[in-house]
Amino acid sequence: MNPISEDVTVLDAMVIGAGVAGLYQLHRLREMGLNVRAYETATGVGGTWYWNRYPGARFDSQVEIYQYWFSEELYCSWKPSERFPAQPETEEWLNFVADHLDLRKDIQFSTRIASAHYDEDSGRWNVTTDAGEKINTQYLVACCGMLSAPLENRFPGQKTFKGEIHHTGLWPKEDVDLKGKKVAVIGTGATGIQVIQTIAPEVGSMKVFVRTPQYIIPMRNPKYSEQDWAGWCNRFNELKAKVKQTFAGFDYDFHEKAWSDCSDAERLELLERRWDDGSLSLWLGSFPEIFFDEEISEEVSEFIRGKMRSRLGNDAHLCNLLIPSQDDYGFGTHRVPLENKYLEVYLQDNVEAVDCKSAPIEEIVAEGIKTADGKVHEVDVIILAVGFDAGSGALSRIDFRGRDNRSLKQQWQQEITTAMGMQIHGYPNLFATGAPLAPSAALCNMTTCLQYQVDWITNCIAYANQQGKKVVEVSKETETQWVEHHDEVASKTLVVKTDSWYMGSNVEGKPRRLISYIGGVGNYHKQCDDVAAKGYPGFEMT
Ligand code: NAP
Repeated sequence: MNPISEDVTVLDAMVIGAGVAGLYQLHRLREMGLNVRAYETATGVGGTWYWNRYPGARFDSQVEIYQYWFSEELYCSWKPSERFPAQPETEEWLNFVADHLDLRKDIQFSTRIASAHYDEDSGRWNVTTDAGEKINTQYLVACCGMLSAPLENRFPGQKTFKGEIHHTGLWPKEDVDLKGKKVAVIGTGATGIQVIQTIAPEVGSMKVFVRTPQYIIPMRNPKYSEQDWAGWCNRFNELKAKVKQTFAGFDYDFHEKAWSDCSDAERLELLERRWDDGSLSLWLGSFPEIFFDEEISEEVSEFIRGKMRSRLGNDAHLCNLLIPSQDDYGFGTHRVPLENKYLEVYLQDNVEAVDCKSAPIEEIVAEGIKTADGKVHEVDVIILAVGFDAGSGALSRIDFRGRDNRSLKQQWQQEITTAMGMQIHGYPNLFATGAPLAPSAALCNMTTCLQYQVDWITNCIAYANQQGKKVVEVSKETETQWVEHHDEVASKTLVVKTDSWYMGSNVEGKPRRLISYIGGVGNYHKQCDDVAAKGYPGFEMT
């Protein structure tokens, strides 16, 4: 083993990222007494809530469950202003958490990790930053986020555009002046919808480039008083226990009665009640059959289409463009966005929905956006709400080399595999949160799933330390078993038939596999708990 030179920072554990997961991971490893440090590309904490500062950004888990569960005191001392707070408040909350836990002194900001190479002789990782700094660490925990690699160079010619062009995931800290401007928005996913409904009142005119329409649910977002929060605070232990057991880590779960056991009136009553709730409960807390049964999926999809049609005044052109048809996909097989008067924006005289399915965007030119019908749509500002290389993108951006110098990026270009989304065979002592093939990659209230993974990883490292072991690596066999289980569960659902970032189909050449485990959060936790309780079989410790 080569001696470590003096210009290398030597750590027991290193965390990449200072978002929801990274902050908690740093806290847990530090509490264990390890010499640990976190590295973060941004100038501040927050992860997703640092980068996604576009107009209208807000989460769609209710704030009473988008929380940390390790400290009741922390939970009760933050006073959210509404049910679904916007980005500035969420970024403020994560800053509050970082201060409360005194985390900043162990975070190095403005630093991108460039490479991480495993040294088989020492069982440790040699990491470099983009500034050439070197770190040597035993454990490496990648808390890089599942939606943190923006597809920023989506179109040819972007550099030639003479106006401003911004990807929502890299939105500038300074105000972007849209008042009276001609603005184009490309993308109508959860992000595009939030941007469109928010900027509509201030822009001079707006062209929205629509390729795939969305089933949407109106968000109900009441303000929360201090008294309201005291009420939630009293329910801390109940909520903490509940979110760990449900299908998607929320405080609601699927209806207790099967679709087939309900009368038409009962079905409609539940759908209407969930619709009125104005949360994701219509999707993740109604009938699970929407994920498996095409006929039931179609009935529920039609329920939503009906709601959407009436809001568009049954305008045939707009309905055709903005409401998914049976041929497109079924409700819930795509990420469902919550919205606030999104459809009504298209009824404004200064807003045009451009059908870029019929006439795809070809390139960006100096004046604007050129589509395949030869038209150039002239605008002052282009907003790219075109999404992310989800799940695998964040880790693939780092040059990870495991045993035998194998490259994670190259490996995942062939096939994306992990064991429970937390380790990958061939990359000892590397752990990840929010990585592919766990619910935390998409199908979860993120704070529930990320915290669970942080706890599992921390306990695994603590166990190895107690056993006097220095290296933890999942076996190939265990990883394969997980992937097979993941695929088997996924294959029974309609989600795998729908194109979206869930399946990796938004990135050319990305291997097709459902990025998120869909067997349910409670079920995932049981399986991971079982591995831990049995002393981590399949995770070889040497
Ligand atoms: P997204 O769901 O991947 O949507 C990207 C949009 O860009 C789609 O409408 C896509 O159309 C369009 N697009 C991409 N390339 C295009 C092209 N070449 N031409 C025309 N259109 C193109 O990305 P996102 O909206 O950023 O959302 C990603 C995820 O972030 C969400 O699903 C959600 O999980 C999360 N998010 C959460 C919240 C929240 O909590 N409230 C808010 C925002 C985002 P196609 O579908 O046809 O490809």
